Amino acid sequence: MAQSFSAEARGAIRKEAEAFLARHKICQPPFPVDHALEAEQLRLAETSLEEALRRMGVDEREIGGIDAMLDVRGRSVALREDLHRHGKKWGCVHEVAHSVIPWHKDLLYYCPILLLPPRVQKQMELEADAFTSDCLFLGSRFLEKAKSHPFGVRPVIKLADEYQTSIHSALRRYVEENPDPCCLLVWRTPEDNGADEPVLSLHYYVPSTSFPGRFLVGQLIDKNHVITKAYLKLRDKGGLVVEHELGIEKGRGRTVCSAETFFNGYAVFTLVWHSNPALG
Ligand SMILES: [Zn+2]
Repeated sequence: MAQSFSAEARGAIRKEAEAFLARHKICQPPFPVDHALEAEQLRLAETSLEEALRRMGVDEREIGGIDAMLDVRGRSVALREDLHRHGKKWGCVHEVAHSVIPWHKDLLYYCPILLLPPRVQKQMELEADAFTSDCLFLGSRFLEKAKSHPFGVRPVIKLADEYQTSIHSALRRYVEENPDPCCLLVWRTPEDNGADEPVLSLHYYVPSTSFPGRFLVGQLIDKNHVITKAYLKLRDKGGLVVEHELGIEKGRGRTVCSAETFFNGYAVFTLVWHSNPALG
């Protein structure tokens, strides 16, 4: 399951993001990343992130796991060179977050994030990611728009295009902010697993706060599973989405949910929801 943090901490970040959007009069998608960097007097660094991290003496093994970094005093953002355009966008706004959230800004002025205790680092990364999501999806606006359509993956894909975000982050936002019982399952493909057989493994999942089911991360499903079948159909025959049902464990019993599976060429996403929210 994806990591989460307290409702209080989440609320504080929501307020910071709302204030940032209002301060800079940002109310239409897509979120203007260049404008946000400029507003914080930040620019993209000339040296590569890898080089900057090596200079700081960061271990080679750690370098691969870092996508972006903020130099608070030098007012610059360094990004990993091989990031996809959506990754670059996310990285920039994530570093803007460290520069905007008052308790981040103050701390990072005196100490680089990599030197802080791991627990503090983790909390700050969750907060900066939440701020990024709030900004890119313009607070409640994205979900309100998505909810004016019937439940499912298709309206989210359309809105991801309008908001110029990845479909992955849009699906995640859709579930995280949704008051209805729903869940996003993200699967690794056989190509990614290095398996010869068509097998999917559950990479992680994000439930909405009212979703009753739980899943085993790392579980493998073979070619006879409804989700693997949907994936093979999308991979081999094309198409956008496969609609199916999914039985989930709920308390001591089982319940059948509506589901849709989508494949973006590198990962498989299954959106699961109760057609009748009263059952949640
Ligand atoms: Zn960060």
